[in-house]
Amino acid sequence: MKCAILAVGTELLFGHTVNTNAVYLSRQLNSMGIDVLYHYAVGDNPDRLKELLHQALKDCDLVITTGGMGPTQDDLTKEVVCQVQQDQLQEHAPSMERLLRHFQKRKRPMTENNKKQALLPSRAIVFDNNHGTAPGFALTFEERTVICLPGPPSEMTAMFSESVGPWLAEKSSEALHFCTVRTFGIGESMLETKLLPLIDGQDDPTLATYAKEGEATLRIASKRATKEEAKQAVEEMLSRVREYIGEYIYSTEDQGLAEVVAGKLIARSITISCAESCTGGMLAEKLTDVAGISAVFERGIVTYSNRAKHEELGVSEQTLQECGAVSPQTAKEMVLGLREKTKSQVCVSITGIAGPEGGTEEKPVGLIYVGVVFDERAEVFELRTNNKNRQWNRNYTVLFALDKINRMLDNRDVE
Ligand code: ATP
Ligand code: MG
Repeated sequence: MKCAILAVGTELLFGHTVNTNAVYLSRQLNSMGIDVLYHYAVGDNPDRLKELLHQALKDCDLVITTGGMGPTQDDLTKEVVCQVQQDQLQEHAPSMERLLRHFQKRKRPMTENNKKQALLPSRAIVFDNNHGTAPGFALTFEERTVICLPGPPSEMTAMFSESVGPWLAEKSSEALHFCTVRTFGIGESMLETKLLPLIDGQDDPTLATYAKEGEATLRIASKRATKEEAKQAVEEMLSRVREYIGEYIYSTEDQGLAEVVAGKLIARSITISCAESCTGGMLAEKLTDVAGISAVFERGIVTYSNRAKHEELGVSEQTLQECGAVSPQTAKEMVLGLREKTKSQVCVSITGIAGPEGGTEEKPVGLIYVGVVFDERAEVFELRTNNKNRQWNRNYTVLFALDKINRMLDNRDVE
């Protein structure tokens, strides 16, 4: 099935409202195997809305509109859709009853224009609105369907998940299965290059790569006659993908690195502590974001100044003087001091230059050292990001540290 999403509302064109409805619907439809070809947005103008509907219906067998379903003068979606799909509005008795009950319950008078919301196309399949007053509907003409949903996101998403989604799934003859493979340590273009032998000439399963804040994600999707066939095709492709990029994969279930690491620590009852300088507690924040981490997370210390590194972790003044705060020696003393203090099985230290200022020829912005101790093993890793953006450097450093912890927990190659 090919689909267009058409958002109605002048406030969208003014930039007053962000079109989150299109984002939500796209994600839902794609995950159901319905191809979304277009996002349109149009003001509350019947002529332009009509023209866009005609245009969308040329290529698509399904158009989903949101907005303009309310009781006021500028809410015109139903009228226009009726013209395009060759139908008439008439009172829909069950919706009128719901509407009356709605106002009675709230002891509010129902105005004449409220009744407009119970007017629906005569051939419509009606979707109840359990979170508001405007019902939604599907109207088919010459094998093309227009589905109209209310604009407020809470009403629209509830209606979609409760009734529209299941209705569409029943109509759709194909089943989709997909798997989201998350990687770290390889850029999107390199990922695509390495996978080229699998991507080339491949129409099912499809492979698509995405870059996301220092990580690269791969989506393997298959559309087959049954869910089982699609699932099997994806699994076969995943095992081939592993042959090419297995060493970079940390999740095939769309989990973040912090979740993956925290999950392993919790499952194996391995305690962890961290001492952070340039990331200022971001690693601790990421880890403590995961529910259940209290069983293994001992402490996180922000040791930003030299004094803190010395007082909290016992980094020697000589090391700080001679090698500097951003050095493998300091990272090592930090992590060993932390281990001494906490006795945690995994200890992590981070020290670096986040920028944009503070770099030198010898120690540029983006130079970061991460120390990791796991049981008998102690390592210091150097990271050079080539990036001036402070936020990016800090985020990437946290991912880098998590990746090293993850590899050490798996006893995998860490370089
Ligand atoms: P109402 O009965 O509230 O008038 P409606 O179906 O007529 O509902 P609109 O009047 O178009 O919908 O929009 C109502 C509100 O819903 C908007 O003010 C906006 O906050 C939100 N909204 C509308 N369209 C979108 C959209 N595409 N994405 C996100 N929010 C939206
Ligand atoms: Mg409205």
